[in-house]
Amino acid sequence: MTRVALVTGGTRGIGAAISVALKNAGYRVAANFAGNEEKARAFEGETGIPVYKWDVSSYQACAEGIARVEADLGPVDILVNNAGITRDAMFHKMTPEQWGEVIGTNLTGLFNMTHPIWNGMRERNFGRVINISSINGQKGQMGQANYSAAKAGDLGFTKALAQEGAAKGITVNAICPGYIGTEMVRAIPEKVLNERIIPQIPVGRLGEPEEIARCVVFLASEDAGFITGSTISANGGQFFV
Ligand code: NDP
Repeated sequence: MTRVALVTGGTRGIGAAISVALKNAGYRVAANFAGNEEKARAFEGETGIPVYKWDVSSYQACAEGIARVEADLGPVDILVNNAGITRDAMFHKMTPEQWGEVIGTNLTGLFNMTHPIWNGMRERNFGRVINISSINGQKGQMGQANYSAAKAGDLGFTKALAQEGAAKGITVNAICPGYIGTEMVRAIPEKVLNERIIPQIPVGRLGEPEEIARCVVFLASEDAGFITGSTISANGGQFFV
């Protein structure tokens, strides 16, 4: 039986590496994206992984998008909630829109995506939900009250849902990446990266998207069935909990 995996934000950055790693591990993979059509189509052409456009901050769009994926590939067994955005600002300058967009995508998006899939996982007595949170949800980060709140919320969601899914063969885990070399991080000015961020990482470099993808492949596997409600911190030694 070939299991089906759905990766949100699965066409760029960490998500793209996750989609490819799951495909290479033998899963049938669908990759969702928000609006960067050109990137998504190029990714689909290069990898053969079908891409699906919808906004994870809309419950209705998620329900419809998941129905399309399931009609094409079959029921989703593995859900990777990876889509995420930043709208950084110091709190005294943060707008309600910056707060709302980040909470809507990075936190409510997990409800919107997981809820329509959850009952099917319960019925089939198998599921893997893997949530990509962040080191900044664990430790907090100035200029990111919205992002830190959403990513910390993802960890609470993970732990609560792990307890609900356990008796039904569903595991729910989180990965907290540190700084990974994707467009999101490259948007940080190079001077800030080299002088302030990389010196805080004991291994002395940014992480690679593939290093997060390998954690996902492990958590998705049958071998990881006893691991639920956990958080894997993949941050080069920058922060321990
Ligand atoms: P990127 O900005 O490189 O890619 C983000 C992906 O998410 C894109 O595919 C994008 O689609 C998609 N996306 C964004 N908003 C939505 C939405 N509303 N609905 C559907 N898809 C959406 O991000 P990264 O690869 O850097 O980050 C991936 C995850 O890892 C995020 O959750 C991020 O918070 C987390 N993370 C990243 C770290 C890093 O260092 N990079 C560190 C810690 C955590 P499109 O291409 O269409 O825009």
